[in-house]
Amino acid sequence: MILPVTDTLTIAERSRLMAKIKGKNTGPERAVRSLLHRAGYRFRIHIRGLPGTPDVVLPKYRTVVFVHGCFWHRHRGCKVATMPHSHVRFWKEKFRRNVANDVRHRRKLRRLGWRVVVVWSCQLKRPDRVLAKLEKALRPRSVRYARTQTPLAIAAEARPVYGK
Ligand SMILES: [Zn+2]
Repeated sequence: MILPVTDTLTIAERSRLMAKIKGKNTGPERAVRSLLHRAGYRFRIHIRGLPGTPDVVLPKYRTVVFVHGCFWHRHRGCKVATMPHSHVRFWKEKFRRNVANDVRHRRKLRRLGWRVVVVWSCQLKRPDRVLAKLEKALRPRSVRYARTQTPLAIAAEARPVYGK
């Protein structure tokens, strides 16, 4: 979706429009879910209590998926991520907060041991590529990961310190 560059809407009107677009169960979210579903993945949606309320949660894979609108979440280099020409300061601040929240949520989730995948709505023009990206993320953790993690775990257990 391409938004008009000349902003003829008032802030209130645009906010309402954007809220509609941002709302849950949008087309892009549904598209990602149906991709996953058809590929045989089982998932849950909108689990409250997880940072940022991810759009899709795959508990078995300890993976969450965010489906981001390019305009709202500022997809870098994307032609959809235009800057409205009026109320620029308002929009800049709004976008800054959105992006900062996204970063914070991803960090928190990773700290909790979740793998985070972001799908941009413009990428859904190529569903095959989105599915490939998701399947790559849902593959079992790589050997390299296991190698770098295991010795540390062993080392940590090798010299147990029991109460002095
Ligand atoms: Zn985009």
